[in-house]
Amino acid sequence: MRALANFIDGRHVPPASGAYIDKVNPATGEAIARVPDSDGADVDLAVAAALKAFPAWSALPAAERCRYLVAVADRIEANFDRLAEAETADTGKPLRLAKAMDIPRASANLRHFATAILHAHSETFRTDQAALNYTLRQPRGVAGIISPWNLPLYLFTWKIAPALATGNTVVAKPSELTPTTATMLSEYFAEVGVPAGVFNLVHGIGAKAGAALVAHPRVPTISFTGGTKTGADIARSAAPMFKKIALELGGKNPTIVFADTNLDEALPVLVRSAFENQGEICLCGSRIFVEEPLYPAFVERFTDAARRLRVGDPLDPAVDQGALISAAHFRKVMSYIDLAREDGGRILCGGGPPDDVGPRCRAGVFVQPTVITDLPPDCRVNQEEIFGPVATVAPFRRETEVIDWANSTAYGLAASLWTRDLGRAHRVAERIQSGTVWINCWLLRDLRVPFGGMKQSGVGREGGDEALRFFTEPKTICIKYPVEPV
Ligand code: NAD
Repeated sequence: MRALANFIDGRHVPPASGAYIDKVNPATGEAIARVPDSDGADVDLAVAAALKAFPAWSALPAAERCRYLVAVADRIEANFDRLAEAETADTGKPLRLAKAMDIPRASANLRHFATAILHAHSETFRTDQAALNYTLRQPRGVAGIISPWNLPLYLFTWKIAPALATGNTVVAKPSELTPTTATMLSEYFAEVGVPAGVFNLVHGIGAKAGAALVAHPRVPTISFTGGTKTGADIARSAAPMFKKIALELGGKNPTIVFADTNLDEALPVLVRSAFENQGEICLCGSRIFVEEPLYPAFVERFTDAARRLRVGDPLDPAVDQGALISAAHFRKVMSYIDLAREDGGRILCGGGPPDDVGPRCRAGVFVQPTVITDLPPDCRVNQEEIFGPVATVAPFRRETEVIDWANSTAYGLAASLWTRDLGRAHRVAERIQSGTVWINCWLLRDLRVPFGGMKQSGVGREGGDEALRFFTEPKTICIKYPVEPV
């Protein structure tokens, strides 16, 4: 079994402690790699390397940093198939999806921020006839990056690219459950000659390596994507040091379907929005509210479509849904399905593992797309993030009622709403408490828009200028000049 390495100061190195944890392919149950179980000692080395590299990297012309990042994007594309296969082996997601979504987006992230920095500009303010103020946006030093397992390379590069493009150096910790594509990325950084110490990778578990990175006094910036509880731990650790933090956290997203929706057009997207990537996307719509006249037809057609999704071997090109990330996550998802049953929910399809997932995947952890009705909006299944292929459907009568239900959770990440009435679409979107509202679409992404969550879904925004601002420190320079001609 291959032992993965950390990447510190331009070299692939074992963890200081010599300890490793096993990485299991969740579709087969097979151990596929040994992951460094890094600790504070590895983080210290990585931060020291990043600090050493910072002055030269931040002083490079933007065009040079751009060239390096574009070269890394080229390496991602040159290794497209290998990366997609690695992502599928680590996550259990269909290979088809890794090729359609994860890997293309990873190179797009690098290209987007590599070129954005060429066009970045800052403000000037003229104070009557007395002074001119302008803003410098300077990199902040070493950025600590911590990312989750559901979209591994996609979210890893989403943070690394703006951090490096703006002139910061990076110490990054991917999820211990999905370490492989981050390691491959570190090889590309070495191959294209990015100076040693600019990008450092430290593997390991969150409570050890991740916590050490957050607590490190020389890392003033922390960008984190993951669960809400972890986000609270990170905020608690970072606050006394006045670190700048961005937290992209969990969601419990509503999907609101008005009766005038063209179901023929909307249904395929609505099914994706509930079950794409096994429902393991923070943006998935897991609470579907349908206006009453459409409700019976919707339930029938949506359930039928969910039942027809093929669950099985992620390498099978005909498969729509692969394995969940781990046995522990499988148990969590199943516990919510059990809870739905106890609370009187009707399971219209799914509700457990499929009968047959093929010989390669007998020891894998799979759950069928599950559709549940007859649950009140305030029950735990409708309030807590499940992060699996489980969606509830409920009817509504009035616009005000469904807005209240949509806003009734602690989260506020994303929502989608479906209607042909433009006035209503704008009106409802304005009242929904979430960072993104998609109208008649879902997960239609433009990398320039502010992306993030309200309430317990996060703090701060990523994407476009928001990310460039996050990774830089604004400095106002005020120049007084004489009012009267001399
Ligand atoms: P998680 O919080 O368990 O772990 C995320 C990362 O944080 C991992 O790298 C982990 O090792 C690390 N970590 C764990 N404890 C830590 C600690 N105390 N200090 C520092 N680092 C620590 O989340 P997960 O299970 O990997 O991911 C699933 C969650 O991520 C879901 O809640 C999902 O909604 C959320 N998510 C949010 C977004 C978004 O953009 N808002 C995107 C994807 C996933």
